[in-house]
Amino acid sequence: MQIIKTIDELRQIVKGWRKEGHSLGLVPTMGYLHDGHKSLIVKAVSENDKVVVSDFVNPTQFGANEDLSSYPRDIVRDAAICEEAGADVVFHPEPEEMYYPDSSTFVDMDRLTKDLCGKTRPTHFRGVCTVVSKLFHIVTPDRAYFGQKDAQQLAVIRRMVRDLDFGIEIVGCPIVREADGLAMSSRNTYLSAEERKAALILHKSLELGERMIQEGETDAAKVKDAIVTKMGTEPLAKIDYVELVDVETLEPVDTIKGQILAATAVYIGKTRLIDNFVSN
Ligand code: AMP
Repeated sequence: MQIIKTIDELRQIVKGWRKEGHSLGLVPTMGYLHDGHKSLIVKAVSENDKVVVSDFVNPTQFGANEDLSSYPRDIVRDAAICEEAGADVVFHPEPEEMYYPDSSTFVDMDRLTKDLCGKTRPTHFRGVCTVVSKLFHIVTPDRAYFGQKDAQQLAVIRRMVRDLDFGIEIVGCPIVREADGLAMSSRNTYLSAEERKAALILHKSLELGERMIQEGETDAAKVKDAIVTKMGTEPLAKIDYVELVDVETLEPVDTIKGQILAATAVYIGKTRLIDNFVSN
């Protein structure tokens, strides 16, 4: 496995692979990899001849007061995980390699990016769409792998690929959780022991909502109220949002029928965590 730091070098490698007729999978990440990321890489390896994992803390998707400088990084450990999972290349560029000092072109999206995480993070999805577009152009994968953990991101990427004719198959992968139910996240490392326990409230509250739906509840407001009330039993939790929306359009639903996404973002102390479920 190779660690590649420049766009030119990566393009050369991809060109060689293409000449040999290989199919190509891409797994975009911000590094500090855990078993959630690993599950994406393993799936990509099982479905493609060659796999590139990008490991890049993308500055343009962080707001001014967010955790860009403190975001955890460990490329040595990440490379070991990628190698074990069977990746062929880790693409680990410096920000200066990815963005010109006078970069002036961005990929942005209406509608899907305005609510849920977009309310508190108004420039986040512009950064995500821009960097993912760049990675798509650099790597030209057949398939790209994204976690259901970031459900809004997955819907946004699917829409972007559709609207801009990228011709890349977007593969959504299930949420990987710790044994006690907390969704794995690089940001979990910010949590103190007390906050780590408190963070379980996200999954517990969502589980309650999911059970209600499984038992036949179709009133979205009732499910949302139950999730919010349960979340309120944890003193360290401060809700950013709880929403029940259409899984594709991300428009709020009143009545639960078919696939809906129940998504939440919650501050546990200073750490903002997200989680969700999709009901069928
Ligand atoms: P990140 O490094 O946080 O940008 O995540 C990179 C990719 O891994 C995204 O597609 C995430 O949705 C996915 N991912 C992160 N955490 C998990 C998880 N717990 N389970 C599944 N996928 C995840």
